[in-house]
Amino acid sequence: MWKKVVIIGAGPTGLLLAHYLLRREQYQVEIYERRDDPLRKEFEAERTFPINLQERGRKALRKIEGLENAITEESVWIYGTNSHSKKSRRIPRKQPLVCLDRNQLVKLILQHLEKTVDSNRLKLSFNSKLISLDDTKNTVNIEVENGEVLTVNYDRLVAADGARSRIRQHLVNKKGLESEVSYVPEDYKSVFFQQPSNPDLQLDRDTIHAQTLKDRTRMLLVPQPEDQLNGVIVFDTKNNPFENFSSQADVFEFMKTNFPFFSPCLSGEEAEALLERPIGKVLTVRCDRFHEDSKILMLGDAAHAVSPSLGQGCNAGLEDVLIFDQVLDQYQDNWEKTLPAFSEKRVPDAHALKELSDYAFPRRKILVAELFLRLKIKRFLNRLFPNLFKPFVFDLLLDSNISYREILQANQGWINRLKKADR
Ligand SMILES: Cc1cc2nc3c(=O)[nH]c(=O)nc-3n(C[C@H](O)[C@H](O)[C@H](O)COP(=O)(O)OP(=O)(O)OC[C@H]3O[C@@H](n4cnc5c(N)ncnc54)[C@H](O)[C@@H]3O)c2cc1C
Repeated sequence: MWKKVVIIGAGPTGLLLAHYLLRREQYQVEIYERRDDPLRKEFEAERTFPINLQERGRKALRKIEGLENAITEESVWIYGTNSHSKKSRRIPRKQPLVCLDRNQLVKLILQHLEKTVDSNRLKLSFNSKLISLDDTKNTVNIEVENGEVLTVNYDRLVAADGARSRIRQHLVNKKGLESEVSYVPEDYKSVFFQQPSNPDLQLDRDTIHAQTLKDRTRMLLVPQPEDQLNGVIVFDTKNNPFENFSSQADVFEFMKTNFPFFSPCLSGEEAEALLERPIGKVLTVRCDRFHEDSKILMLGDAAHAVSPSLGQGCNAGLEDVLIFDQVLDQYQDNWEKTLPAFSEKRVPDAHALKELSDYAFPRRKILVAELFLRLKIKRFLNRLFPNLFKPFVFDLLLDSNISYREILQANQGWINRLKKADR
């Protein structure tokens, strides 16, 4: 008999978990996702942004035959960052990044799932939103497109439903799960730009482009296929630059004055869309465990959403799946043992990642300068005396053999300094 695992959420984490579980003989997987099927209908633009995939996330994708290649073939390789102010400065990366749009990543993992797994053991339901669960009966209630509510039973339930997870909320309300949820003090708007036709104004196609203003409003653009430049404009919650704009002209004026390198990439259509596009709010989540009994598991943002400052959230969600798979192996698919062991292993890493993401990247300009100096010095010392000096936090994050806990330990001094000085 197959064990039925119901996964709520077809984001990167939930879909990768389905791949992993279906490699094992004993599972049947049902996925319920509240949004449309991305392979059959385009997502709305406001719900996406570029994701950089590092070795941590790619290592998890690599375990599924053909998946990493399917993703990297559609991605852009990034070799550095162009920091723009009056002039532009190119800062090379130690290792290249793979960048792609979040929704494109989801599409590719899903496409590979549909192509490669036994369809008798996989059921995918879109426009299907979990509205409640009954953990005494092992059932979830799913609202489908026509408003009807279906009751679905499960043997095991996985919350991969993102930072606003309803399952996590249920565990807080009914099962004493301790969970701190807070908003990052910065909001963002997704932006979709295009390389200008004038070659003199075009931006490098192999670097991230970043600019920070005095009031800490900043813009990040990541080259995408077909000469697109997708990214985000990030601003203090109390300082939304779009608040008083009423026309395209206001947006163009703002861009020309503040982001002159980027403004040639803005089209009239995008300026109009920017006025209407809703702002995104980012939640962070810190839980004391990632499971309930032997039946319910939380993964990815549902368990540990973090600020995007270090670009780790998705990488960590994918890594969750790899680690969960290793623990399943260790306990031969005995979920009674696997779930607590997974929490024990992963929760300290998630807490460390939250602390790193909250603090490792400074907000004050003077500290940003100090950061680059430390980065250079640590790289230099590490090259000369690798056993004595570890690389700095950003370089350590690229090494998937070092846990977030170890990275925090090695950089606690820097984090403590920023906690005191940067707020
Ligand atoms: C601006 C920005 C930039 C980022 N950049 C990076 C980056 O460069 N690198 C990186 O690693 N991470 C980055 N992240 C973080 C990354 O996007 C998330 O960590 C990642 O998407 C988490 O994946 P997930 O599958 O756990 O959750 P999600 O991607 O949130 O997916 C959850 C899914 O569950 C569905 N869902 C929610 N509720 C229900 C329900 N009740 N019923 C059914 N379905 C439901 C949602 O529709 C969604 O599809 C960034 C985040 C932001 C906001």
